[in-house]
Amino acid sequence: TSPGTDLAGLIAEVADYPTPGVRFRDITPLIAHPGGLAAAVEQMVAAGPRDVDIVVGLEARGFIFGPAIALALGAGFVPARKPDKLPRPVESVTYDLEYGSTTLAVHADAFGPSARVLIVDDVLATGGTAAAAAELVGRLGGQLVGITLLLELSELGGRERLTRLGFGPVTSVL
Ligand code: IMP
Repeated sequence: TSPGTDLAGLIAEVADYPTPGVRFRDITPLIAHPGGLAAAVEQMVAAGPRDVDIVVGLEARGFIFGPAIALALGAGFVPARKPDKLPRPVESVTYDLEYGSTTLAVHADAFGPSARVLIVDDVLATGGTAAAAAELVGRLGGQLVGITLLLELSELGGRERLTRLGFGPVTSVL
């Protein structure tokens, strides 16, 4: 364990990225710090459910934390990807962003109907991305057991949105 690691202090805040008015939280200093990566994964595991068959990680930063969490839980890892990345038949959900829309997809046979599924990503903002992933889990017949984030921007209402849609429980470390 790394009790002394200041995780919040390892996240860089970038003004006006990717668009003016947005304050982007850059997690790359945290994952570059050996103690930071270990502490983040450990705390994300501790905050969430333990009985998990499949971790679904959301492209792209969910691919950093998701596999590490899956290893700790003895679970498998399934990538939820942006369009046209997966080679076999997919289930996909298109959702709105601030400007335009995007799509998240998983292989249609990625897990079976009884799988206990944990969604993992780095940052929860408006909750649109996590909601799309939760919708995908349902379409495959999986049982959503939780949504784990490193950082939650609570003022953007993502947790409320997910709760309203019946998705959760939502757990975040920061
Ligand atoms: P949402 O769909 O509005 O909740 O946005 C969450 C998605 O956008 C996640 O996949 C995040 O990786 C990404 N995201 C949004 N804001 C930030 C940020 O400040 N830092 C890093 N990723 C972000």
